[in-house]
Amino acid sequence: MRPLEELTRPNIWALKPYSSARDEYSGNEAKVFLDANENPYNNPLNRYPDPLQKGLKARLAQIKGVAKENIFLGNGSDEAIDLAYRCFTRPGTDNVVAIEPTYGMYKVCADINNIEYRPVLLDQDFQIKSYKLLKACDKHTKLIWLCSPNNPTGNNLNRNEIVKTIECFDGLVIVDEAYSDFSQERPLRLEIDKYPNLIVLNTFSKAWGCAAIRLGMAFADKKIIDIFNKVKYPYNVNALTQKNALEALAEPYEVDKWIKIILLERSRMIDAFKLLPSCEKVYPTDANFFLAKMHDAQTIYDYLKSNGIIVRNRTHVSLCDDCLRITIGSKTENNELLAALRQY
Ligand SMILES: *Cc1c(COP(=O)(O)O)cnc(C)c1O
Repeated sequence: MRPLEELTRPNIWALKPYSSARDEYSGNEAKVFLDANENPYNNPLNRYPDPLQKGLKARLAQIKGVAKENIFLGNGSDEAIDLAYRCFTRPGTDNVVAIEPTYGMYKVCADINNIEYRPVLLDQDFQIKSYKLLKACDKHTKLIWLCSPNNPTGNNLNRNEIVKTIECFDGLVIVDEAYSDFSQERPLRLEIDKYPNLIVLNTFSKAWGCAAIRLGMAFADKKIIDIFNKVKYPYNVNALTQKNALEALAEPYEVDKWIKIILLERSRMIDAFKLLPSCEKVYPTDANFFLAKMHDAQTIYDYLKSNGIIVRNRTHVSLCDDCLRITIGSKTENNELLAALRQY
């Protein structure tokens, strides 16, 4: 790995961050707060939230098996994705490499930040070869984007190829594990101590059932987390979100229960799809959705839409000709989809 200073945008490396009132005073014993120009009324919403979300991170550390200083929290994973560009890539000069197809935000954020985006096509089984990713890199490549289980294909990427990529690349590798709760594979976030150039992303939007509160996580070496914290908005995770997340984390068994039901429904849906005349093929999945190759995805998409059922049409995505991406819903929702397709 190149030294972190070399991988970081020079102005960011040199940045002296904004110091908020609540940064400078973070003890617990004070009882009068006249430091932040807050209104004394309308408790508790009158107070600025903890800028570093210490209570939430302490609980997350236990649940996720990652030390609290290795956790960054943001306004969805999307904030961490954008921060990776703003911290480590120089607009107009640097580039990033990513698997193709994958989650659309990596490219959108590259475009917003004026960073060259180099997609590397997966093979027919939606797998990567480390050497192909590395071949696409040059001295201006700062980041490699991986997503496992991958969206929209649904499959886990081969672990050996991921590890080879991390070990052989001299920049940062970001592995988005938004869907790892649905997979049997050991999460890579548990290995961040081994790889100083690895950033793993998680989210509250999928298995945790909290897309509305906008809370995403990045796990990495403390030096990387410190750079993210320096650049983020001071109060990037609001008080209501921190409170709701703590409530969700108090009931992890609820989440385990949801995951079990979703996985059962997933196999039921895949079996049912395989029997549909309109379905040519269902791809293997390790996530809470699956990709299905249809006989004319666009027509079926429009037909479902006219019946009030929305799925994701991926037909214009590389390697996904005529594919629909189907999220596993409740039993009732899944049955409505099947009933509509049986009548198609
Ligand atoms: C849904 C999804 C996310 C979640 O993003 P949030 O901003 O946390 O809601 C992240 N990565 C991938 C690959 C996803 O599919």
